[in-house]
Amino acid sequence: MLEIDDLQVELDADAGLVRAIAGMRLALSRGETFALVGESGCGKSMTALALMRLLPENGRVAGGAVRLDGQDLLVLPEGRMRDVRGGRIAMIFQEPSTSLNPVMRVGDQIVEAIEAHTVLRGKAARAKAIDWLARVGIPEPQRRIDDYPFRLSGGQKQRVMIAIALAAEPDYLIADEPTTALDVTIQAQILDLIRDLQRERQLGVLLITHDLAVVGGMAHRVALMYAGQIIEVAPAAEFFAAPRHPYARLLLQALPDAARRGQPLAAIAGTVPPLWQAFDGCRFAPRCDKAMAHCAGTPPALTDEGPQRQVRCLLYSQPGDALPRAPAVARALPPLPPVQSEPLLDVRDLRVRFMLRTPLLHRGPRHFDAVDGIAFQLRAGRTLALVGESGCGKTTSGKAIAQLLRRQARISGQALFEGCDLFKLQGQALLQARRHLQIIFQDPFASLNPRMRVADVLEEGLIALRPELDAGQRLARLRALVDQVGLRRDALQRWPHEFSGGQRQRIAIARALAVEPRLIVCDEPTSALDVSVQAQILNLLRELQREQGLAYLFITHNIGVVEYIADDIAVMQAGRIVERGACAEVLGQPREGFTKDLLAAVPRLLVARS
Ligand code: SF4
Repeated sequence: MLEIDDLQVELDADAGLVRAIAGMRLALSRGETFALVGESGCGKSMTALALMRLLPENGRVAGGAVRLDGQDLLVLPEGRMRDVRGGRIAMIFQEPSTSLNPVMRVGDQIVEAIEAHTVLRGKAARAKAIDWLARVGIPEPQRRIDDYPFRLSGGQKQRVMIAIALAAEPDYLIADEPTTALDVTIQAQILDLIRDLQRERQLGVLLITHDLAVVGGMAHRVALMYAGQIIEVAPAAEFFAAPRHPYARLLLQALPDAARRGQPLAAIAGTVPPLWQAFDGCRFAPRCDKAMAHCAGTPPALTDEGPQRQVRCLLYSQPGDALPRAPAVARALPPLPPVQSEPLLDVRDLRVRFMLRTPLLHRGPRHFDAVDGIAFQLRAGRTLALVGESGCGKTTSGKAIAQLLRRQARISGQALFEGCDLFKLQGQALLQARRHLQIIFQDPFASLNPRMRVADVLEEGLIALRPELDAGQRLARLRALVDQVGLRRDALQRWPHEFSGGQRQRIAIARALAVEPRLIVCDEPTSALDVSVQAQILNLLRELQREQGLAYLFITHNIGVVEYIADDIAVMQAGRIVERGACAEVLGQPREGFTKDLLAAVPRLLVARS
């Protein structure tokens, strides 16, 4: 058994001493998958690093023990810990590209692990490495063993990482977001592989993820973390059917799906508290909808609430009257605008070709068709979801329509915006069209200039695309914008790094709205965000659509989000649309084999709605 007992981890940071993990207890058995879930910064990955003794330089274990079959790993000499690391407990990370050594053949990396932790050497170790490559599903393992990592796809690299991790035949595997960087179909294959190997080898798996649907399909037990503490432990089925902690309930209600369509998602107010602050009571109290008077001054302990169930909440150990709360006032939304007969955007036979830089005598293709003749229509006030695996041309299509690829690619076909072909517009006419056509990107951290205050970020577009406004009118518009996206007015004078991910995405939305667009290309706008923040952003996008009749071209791989927000859907594969239609129809009764495979690969979570 792998046991974590009262683990305390501290980090030195600019803001002060961060108590990243405050008294964690858990036990993992062989053959069991135990999922550690929670939003970013809650301490999941830090737990894994602490138990492998791989904490960053500014971090240290301040107390507690990590026992493997009774032996405390935290006091083991480093030489013996090296045998444990990889030998008894292996770890796979989120990003396979950065975890493999790029200048070493993949076979040598597997052989290295085999020779370090087993008695096999030389040819026998190489034969074993080929065997492992075959077992993790790498085709032609005899040949691929001598490939360098750059020749492998993302899914193949993650398979090699699993082969390296398992080649030493460990008893436990720590999988830290093992499929977050992968497509849904590859994710399904990797999760199946972990499940099979677990059955075969009785592996104990500590699965660290923020994806609750993956947990639903994989885990036997779940521990939910919040602000450095475990706040609920339960068998997975019980956790999803009847979560006990108020945060767990809110988190599950914040997940978008078809059942919530047309209603606001239950966004959790506020943000996770910084871990450098001292806590007198429950860490969730400022955000809790069930908080009682004594919650702010009494830190709750993790108490047993039935077989294999534990909850850190005073509702169970010291119940009392809930604090009166102002009733949540649902913002009255205007009714859905009537569906226009004419499309706002009519895309016909869109093709995007990138020219490849190839050597003079190169015989292969000199171009790459990222989008290969797609067509769709989008009406005002409606949302069209573009879905498909990465590299299928979704983002390229969105960027081409948003006029961001004019210099980089050869674009043909038509994108008629209110009857005008966007690809033919030049000069002033193009500038005017750009005003009505905005884009929101996936990564709110990368999409804002860190050297510009929020006011300047928002004003930049106004100056370029609304030159008729004077300084006073622009300021009034900026204030209205921050109100509209739910930020405080003082946000205008602050820098992007002072905001959380969700707040930055609000700024990006405000920037898009600044010039009063008619259509917004939303490129995975919530995929970098936690579930509760995603709910806030989806609510905001929905409200804005109702109020302003905006049309969204919504690029995503999250089928739950599609079900919640999209009216129509177009499924892309290798640059083409293979199926399109009304969202409920395509998702309910897909016709094409590719759509069926894609939907089958998506992990789904059935949660109780209460
Ligand atoms: Fe909410 Fe109080 Fe329970 Fe904390 S202890 S989760 S504030 S009810």
